[in-house]
Amino acid sequence: MTIDISNIQFGENGLIPAIIQDAQTQEVLMLAYMNKESLRKTMKTKETWFYSRSRQELWNKGATSGNKQIVEQLFYDCDGDTLLIQVKPLGPACHTGSTSCFFNTSMEQRVQPTELLNKLVSTIQERRKQIDSDSYTAYLFREGLDKILKKIGEEASEVIIGAKNRDKQEVIWEISDLTYHTLVLMELLEVDVYDITEELMKRHIEKKVNKNE
Ligand code: AMP
Ligand code: ZN
Ligand code: ZN
Ligand code: ZN
Repeated sequence: MTIDISNIQFGENGLIPAIIQDAQTQEVLMLAYMNKESLRKTMKTKETWFYSRSRQELWNKGATSGNKQIVEQLFYDCDGDTLLIQVKPLGPACHTGSTSCFFNTSMEQRVQPTELLNKLVSTIQERRKQIDSDSYTAYLFREGLDKILKKIGEEASEVIIGAKNRDKQEVIWEISDLTYHTLVLMELLEVDVYDITEELMKRHIEKKVNKNE
């Protein structure tokens, strides 16, 4: 996994900004600067190395905190003056303990659907691994398919009741229940969220084509 360094435009200070992104969730984690040496080390060790402008030294992300970033893919932009590095983070990217450094936002509602779904799926996966824990999710996996299907039936009925009553808050609760139990079922059957988005996207595109007929 290397890129040709001669295509990279290091700035006047010898530095290039590197955007660090979670390869799996696509969440933007942090931005830091690299010089030629730190980029070389990053490619060689498959861990992120930056140049600290304040300390004026190379810095292996996670060397002290343990929150290293394993490099999965390197990109550089059209004019070679910005790097995009997709990583597998072994812990929070931010020194505050936040997954991403970009938690300050102008948005009222911070959590985006994709981000939330990804977090929920990874939590469900973790609970499945800790199958003997007293979490409700672990309990569902212990009980197995029939229990999960029964819950999905119940929650779907509750959505219907809430909707019949035009009770918006009730509908929000019950759709949340239904969504969560559906994600548990998907995990059990090894259906990926991306399997669903791909299928929906396929239909969405087909529909557009049909419209144009
Ligand atoms: P770490 O690289 O996680 O072991 O952290 C070592 C030091 O690097 C911290 O004390 C910070 O000074 C700095 N640092 C770590 N993560 C970041 C970050 N995302 N942005 C800026 N500085 C950081
Ligand atoms: Zn550019
Ligand atoms: Zn930070
Ligand atoms: Zn319910």
